Amino acid sequence: MKLHEYQSKQLFAKYGIPIPKGQVAATATEARQIAEELGGRVVIKSQVLVGGRGKAGGIRLAKSPKEAEEVATQILGMEIKGLPVRKVLVDEAASIQHEIYLGITNDRAARRPVVMASAAGGVEIEEVARTTPEKIIKIHIDPLLGLRDYQARDIALGIDLPRQHWKVFGEIARGLWKAYSENDATLAEINPLVITKEKQLVALDGKMLVDDNALFRHSDLAEMRDLDEEAVAETEARKYGLSFIKLDGQIGCMVNGAGLAMTTMDIVNLFGGEPANFLDIGGGASAEKVAAALRIILSDKNVKVILFNIFGGITRCDEVAKGILTALAEVKPNIPMVVRLVGTNAEAGRQMLAKARMITANTLTDAAQKAVAAAKA
Ligand code: GDP
Ligand code: MN
Repeated sequence: MKLHEYQSKQLFAKYGIPIPKGQVAATATEARQIAEELGGRVVIKSQVLVGGRGKAGGIRLAKSPKEAEEVATQILGMEIKGLPVRKVLVDEAASIQHEIYLGITNDRAARRPVVMASAAGGVEIEEVARTTPEKIIKIHIDPLLGLRDYQARDIALGIDLPRQHWKVFGEIARGLWKAYSENDATLAEINPLVITKEKQLVALDGKMLVDDNALFRHSDLAEMRDLDEEAVAETEARKYGLSFIKLDGQIGCMVNGAGLAMTTMDIVNLFGGEPANFLDIGGGASAEKVAAALRIILSDKNVKVILFNIFGGITRCDEVAKGILTALAEVKPNIPMVVRLVGTNAEAGRQMLAKARMITANTLTDAAQKAVAAAKA
């Protein structure tokens, strides 16, 4: 789950990270009132869950409350990378002397969290990572020990941070580590962390990704989810306990088990097709769940064929077939459907589905080839 900038920064502040004074607004009038309270120059920042807002014109300075209202009107009418701006953050403007990048994520290859920092922070960090990766320093963290003081100093040294800032930088880095680890984040990022003309370190931007599988133990974070920003299909999927990720292909995949779902996508690719989604309907797929999954897959207009790949273990295939039939009666898709059913009571299940005029397959290879052929027909 992605948090908005304002949510990330509020969380960072709880861990002692200095952030600008500010508040979020849903209307231009509110933006003006906040600007009045803050007094002086403000920055109006679109709150959408994509990066590169600055370059897209979604971040602008305003010198007065009146200008804040005008700018907010414009930004609230914008779309950034296809997402309508529904809220803006109105922050006290900072006078920037230098922009630093500081972030923590998981380094899967190293099997540890990694702190990354660069003196070349700001909006071009992706470019820096691509062209001059040596300008990004990386320090791995032992998850049991956490970020040690000497490591924070190593980072400060690595990015040539003037010594007068080391103490506060260490507090910020440790705060970010705590925010990351205590909230089960997969990313905690400050870009830019600025040195202001007044020689203060301030987190001007904030980004957090939280592991969805850990949200059950962070009800406060789960409540921050912004449903407006999410694809309808994903909200629906979560409601029914389905793991769903939309992709761009034509072959809708309905699979029980995450590993099997990934295998299915791989094999579809192998035979020249493109999956329209990742979908794990989970164990014991009831008719209700299958129907929900069908509706979700069919809501994607790119889908030309549906591939069911079901492995009956504890869940019996005839039960799943029954679920599929009930769902089909309700949803009535008018595109070809290929089904591969193996495991407990597979034969009984297959017979039930053949009557429903589904294309049956005995192996996954067979099923994938038939699905790819149907998608291309
Ligand atoms: P992003 O483009 O989505 O990453 O949004 P950021 O919040 O990082 O803002 C982009 C850029 O806008 C920053 O790198 C700064 O250069 C600039 N910016 C953001 N806030 C302020 C501010 O308060 N004052 C000034 N002068 N520039 C700002
Ligand atoms: Mn940024």
